[in-house]
Amino acid sequence: MTLDVVAATGSHVDDLGPEAVVLLRHPPTGVTAIVVVDNTASGPAIGGTRMAPDVTVEEVARLARSMTLKSAAARLPHGGAKAGIVADPTMPAADKEAVVRWFAGAIRDLRSYIPGPDMGTDERCMAWVHDEIGRSVGLPAALGGIPLDELGATGFGLAIAAEAAAAAGAVVLDGARVAVQGFGAVGRHVARFLSQRGATLVAASDSQGALIDPAGLPVDELISWSRAGHPLVAFDGAGGADRVDREALIAVDCDILVPAARPDVITEANVDDVRTRLVLEGANIPLTAKAEAVLHDRGVLCLPDWIVNAGGVICASVEHAGGTRALAFAQIEETVRANTATVIAQSAETGELPRDVADRLALGRVREAMALRRSYG
Ligand code: NAD
Repeated sequence: MTLDVVAATGSHVDDLGPEAVVLLRHPPTGVTAIVVVDNTASGPAIGGTRMAPDVTVEEVARLARSMTLKSAAARLPHGGAKAGIVADPTMPAADKEAVVRWFAGAIRDLRSYIPGPDMGTDERCMAWVHDEIGRSVGLPAALGGIPLDELGATGFGLAIAAEAAAAAGAVVLDGARVAVQGFGAVGRHVARFLSQRGATLVAASDSQGALIDPAGLPVDELISWSRAGHPLVAFDGAGGADRVDREALIAVDCDILVPAARPDVITEANVDDVRTRLVLEGANIPLTAKAEAVLHDRGVLCLPDWIVNAGGVICASVEHAGGTRALAFAQIEETVRANTATVIAQSAETGELPRDVADRLALGRVREAMALRRSYG
């Protein structure tokens, strides 16, 4: 019989997973948390712990499956999982520490899950988790961590994916016009790494609005400004730029569009506005399946999230194994380049959507690992 809690994971129930759907509640405060361990055939599952007031079981399950596929595609010795703490991440620091330490204690015996940072949590939170249970990734450098968001591991991988797309003839990086939605840990770094490869940042947005300038925005200055906590639209060093609503970024005329903010930002409702040649999916599940299909029919190359944004989890996996940042970046480069090239080549050969090729690749690897494990027999 399907338990209600498993049913709440939506359509993400099949022979792969989930292996565990755990609901936790802290009676004194009423704070709740969700952990979905999707599949651990390749090893214990690394996955972010998200803190948001509106996080749901279905969202966590969907992201956990995405982590299974991402780790499998990257051939990491890890499965897929995700967690969500239903709380406001901007609560006072002492309260946040208490909540995170409670969460860590509550998952002490859920050894198949290794927490990492995600929306609303950071390396400091992971240090608290590690302090409680000795198990987390994305730790501060002082605890042997590789600061993946500070170094831009995911943004680096996205730039490598863009190189692979350029090698396949999908774009020319020198002079490419880039639009980045979301100017956080992923967005800032992809803008930086792509501009180092000759591209021009023509638009960038954050939660408060978008800056658009076809002549190019000053990437380094914009990063410093945004890092200091200022909204992009208040940046005064972009004289000729238009300051517009954040939604306008999707429709910017560009060569490379990088959604790097939230899920489901390009849907059937706005996909016709998209004017680009290449979509690099920096965020997790930023496009609906229908939107990807529409763009594919229009000849726009959409490179799937868990192929091109795997830099963060590769870095976390290297950290977990005791490796160095140089090793992490070398592994990101090798893996993301090879996977992106394979997906583009097979999609061109068969006409399939890149995501369908990527699904086949990753699912094949998960099933291969499952066949080698007694617990899946
Ligand atoms: P972040 O919190 O550092 O930055 C998010 C940015 O998006 C901020 O600039 C915020 O203002 C902006 N934003 C929020 N809503 C927006 C909207 N509607 N329109 C435009 N901008 C908006 O987060 P991050 O670590 O950069 O992650 C971004 C996305 O990428 C998330 O979906 C995350 O799950 C995914 N991701 C992150 C990593 C990583 O290594 N950090 C790896 C893989 C996937």
